[in-house]
Amino acid sequence: MDLIKPLDLQKDQKKEKIGNTEKVRCLIIGSGPAGYTAAIYAARANLKPVLYTGLEMGGQLTTTTDVENYPGYPEGITGPAMMDDFRKQAERFGTDVRFGVVTGADFSGPEHVIIIEDENKIVADAVIIATGATAKYLGLEAEKKYAGRGVSACATCDGFFYKQKDVAVVGGGDTAAEEATYLAGLCNKVYLIVRRNVLRASKAMQERVMNTPNIEILWEHQAVDLYGENGVEGAMLIKKKGTPEEETVKLKIDGFFLAIGHNPNSEIFRDYLETDPAGYIKTVPGTTKTKIPGIFAAGDVQDPTYRQAVTAAGSGCMAAIDAEHYLSEKPA
Ligand code: NDP
Repeated sequence: MDLIKPLDLQKDQKKEKIGNTEKVRCLIIGSGPAGYTAAIYAARANLKPVLYTGLEMGGQLTTTTDVENYPGYPEGITGPAMMDDFRKQAERFGTDVRFGVVTGADFSGPEHVIIIEDENKIVADAVIIATGATAKYLGLEAEKKYAGRGVSACATCDGFFYKQKDVAVVGGGDTAAEEATYLAGLCNKVYLIVRRNVLRASKAMQERVMNTPNIEILWEHQAVDLYGENGVEGAMLIKKKGTPEEETVKLKIDGFFLAIGHNPNSEIFRDYLETDPAGYIKTVPGTTKTKIPGIFAAGDVQDPTYRQAVTAAGSGCMAAIDAEHYLSEKPA
């Protein structure tokens, strides 16, 4: 077992491995725009960050095709290629990027403990949580089949590709209302597929939806399948499922947008950090500080509102700066 490392190596890496316990100055969890941006800033500030990618290396952007709204890419870029650039930039300044999943955390004591893959323990002076959020899907096989070919969980990211086309948005909350309204500005027609006979969205958002002529609400409809040769060409819906009036509806559409909510990936931290009812980690307004000194949260895991790559990157930068300030008063 790798108990003791040469002193110069310890000094150089500012971390020591004792059995399966490792000491790290700055640990970043997550490999989306927030995590990698935090890594770029932390590495350039000489914090020798170690970044664990999580299972979905590159985060949610790797599930999207073209990214056209991230400044600096005038011709657009694919999500995976952009995240590859982020990773390379983080590594260029010395970030230790490791593939691995954080499976546990213990922030109860003076040391911040993170468990990797249930077996390796990392003790970090500062932790930046950038674990993102995961869009909820209905669980249909067809959603996987048409991923990136007509199925999307982000209208702001992918709506542009459906200009003048007919699309459907599933959901009845604020996100669905917002995305339907956004898409209505681009598309020919937007169907809002709502499973109940009411919207959960705020009154103001409901009014916006109702007052948008090219949005049609399909009340009490549930999507059960998608069809199409080279991408989505339509959806199969069931109206008034489980009632005597139940009927099957075939809806011709080119795009199918899920807006049934996101799950912030904060489960393992919830015993220690404050979250809102949906699970988003609460931070001190205007900062990335959580209620525990030395633990910071950046990107979608703490952002129920904007959820964009550029805002996530911005908050990753903030987290690294907040961590640097914190560590400057804490000797290594
Ligand atoms: P919500 O949980 O508020 O709404 C989810 C919607 O999806 C509900 O209408 C729900 O239906 C529907 N839904 C869930 N599962 C299914 C399913 N399997 N099949 C069909 N429909 C389903 O999520 P949002 O993402 O809309 O909002 C999350 C939070 O973020 C909210 O607090 C919201 O207010 C906030 N937000 C605020 C915004 C703003 O202020 N500008 C913008 C976006 C979000 P049902 O109603 O029947 O449960």
